[in-house]
Amino acid sequence: MKFTILTLFPEMFAPLDCSILKRGRDEGLLVFDLVNFRDFALSRHKNVDDTPYGGGGGMVLKPEPLYAALAALPPPAGARRVALLTPQGALFSQSRAAALAAYDELVLICGHYEGFDERIRALADEEISIGDYVLTGGEPAALVVIDAVARLTPGVLGQEDAARTDSHAGGFLEHPHYTRPPLFAGQRVPEVLLSGDHAAIERWRRKESLRRTFLRRPDLVPEAVWREGDYAILEELAAEEETVRLCRPLWAGAAPPARRRKGGDRHG
Ligand code: SAM
Repeated sequence: MKFTILTLFPEMFAPLDCSILKRGRDEGLLVFDLVNFRDFALSRHKNVDDTPYGGGGGMVLKPEPLYAALAALPPPAGARRVALLTPQGALFSQSRAAALAAYDELVLICGHYEGFDERIRALADEEISIGDYVLTGGEPAALVVIDAVARLTPGVLGQEDAARTDSHAGGFLEHPHYTRPPLFAGQRVPEVLLSGDHAAIERWRRKESLRRTFLRRPDLVPEAVWREGDYAILEELAAEEETVRLCRPLWAGAAPPARRRKGGDRHG
């Protein structure tokens, strides 16, 4: 997958040279193209911003450099998506990351200063916000989007299963993890994880994943994807956790379809 980043501060993308993103690039799975759109400024002094019409503080990014930078990109090798980073965009999520990972190229436009001239918005297929707060520039937001999308690109993680069970992948938070030693600072690893009983471990993980989600992020539950067997686990959890009991209407959808009576319900 190719990421093309239009930015005034390419040096802020040093993290692309580290860890899994670097390995993905070295293996040819990820391509990063940093374009400084100051290079496309028309004026002798390479100005990319100007004062806002109507007055007020801050400087506004001019449209010409970004239009020219986008027009000068090499033709896309496949499906290309252009996204503008802005606190006014749709909130970024795991499902949005998965949707963007299906493209061959993602172009990310990073703003700065007071923001964009409104006409720059017309360049983008979508607008992305990484949260309800304001950053000084789009660069950290672009890094967040790149990281989340890149790790969903086939082959980048090496172990695709890891992403499949991650928090938010199926709508729930992930279950707790433990490693050696079995006893540390008076805290023991749950016995079931040492049992070697894979079915029991799977069920424990699912139960703890559901417990965590109900206790920490009940707002995720209405969108979550239920699995067979969840209802029985939820009944157990309801006996253990008041929150799960109180949220019963939220998990009604996990109930298995009503069983047919033996030999009954069939007419004719
Ligand atoms: N005045 C703008 C507003 O209120 O919408 C904010 C401008 S902000 C100081 C400068 C740039 O940082 C934005 O153009 C955008 O590219 C980026 N940015 C800031 N917060 C962001 C967020 N939460 N998500 C994505 N990008 C953000």
